[in-house]
Amino acid sequence: MPELHELEALRIRMAPRLEGKLITAASVTPKKAHLLRYPVEEFARELPARRITSLTRRGKHLVFATEHGGGGAPRWLVINPMLGGRFQLAGDGEPVPSTHVFTIRVEGKLEMRYLDFRDMGRIYWVEDPAKDVPGLAELGPEADTVTEMGIEAFRKRLRRFRDELKDLLRNQEFLAGIGNAYSDEILFEARLLPLRRRASLKPAEEEALFAAIPTVLQRAVQAILANPNYEESKQDRSFMAVHMKGGKTCPRCGHRISQLGSNREPLNFCRGCQL
Ligand SMILES: [Zn+2]
Repeated sequence: MPELHELEALRIRMAPRLEGKLITAASVTPKKAHLLRYPVEEFARELPARRITSLTRRGKHLVFATEHGGGGAPRWLVINPMLGGRFQLAGDGEPVPSTHVFTIRVEGKLEMRYLDFRDMGRIYWVEDPAKDVPGLAELGPEADTVTEMGIEAFRKRLRRFRDELKDLLRNQEFLAGIGNAYSDEILFEARLLPLRRRASLKPAEEEALFAAIPTVLQRAVQAILANPNYEESKQDRSFMAVHMKGGKTCPRCGHRISQLGSNREPLNFCRGCQL
């Protein structure tokens, strides 16, 4: 599932190519139309002739703001890719993958395609995202703003939650954007075991968690963007330290990396150097 870091890298790549562009056509693969939380005919009819004014991200959602050339209310395309959603920027005539859900064509013969191999993504075409997209209004601050938040506000925020650390990091009301993969990486960076209770954290451990979130985030965005074979539609997690590395050797202490849970949704950590 694309998390904050991956969507942020995508946004950085796609925004300059889409912002300010006029939408010339929109089309939906009929058998995937159920992923749209909006009547499909209207989606295809209403998007063209609108201009994409900005591409932003909120938690694990990509948010396209649009306005009509002739004025009128802004309207937002909000996409939560869930487990299997991917994006692709393609030129005219490039083959369309079988996972294709919809395409927005913009001036300059560029296509933005949304693909989904799990058919779990959620696509909204709305007037007021905070009201019309479930869960959006309840999201906590963006995980990449903890540095600006400062350690004291972070500590206060932490104390409102009682979860185990793994669940806490994935709780979108605590911080928006972190999921299963990056919560493993953040806890590894902070040297904290995932099943620790939040209330058991000592002040120095709270600080370690506070510091690990932006460190892991920035490193991941840079690693993703530095990959010479970067493709919007592929998810690059090769640089991760523990996630999906169950049974391998810990890069920090040499201990064997542990795994709990399924192979598809594993929880990975190192008993050698996480406390
Ligand atoms: Zn270790």
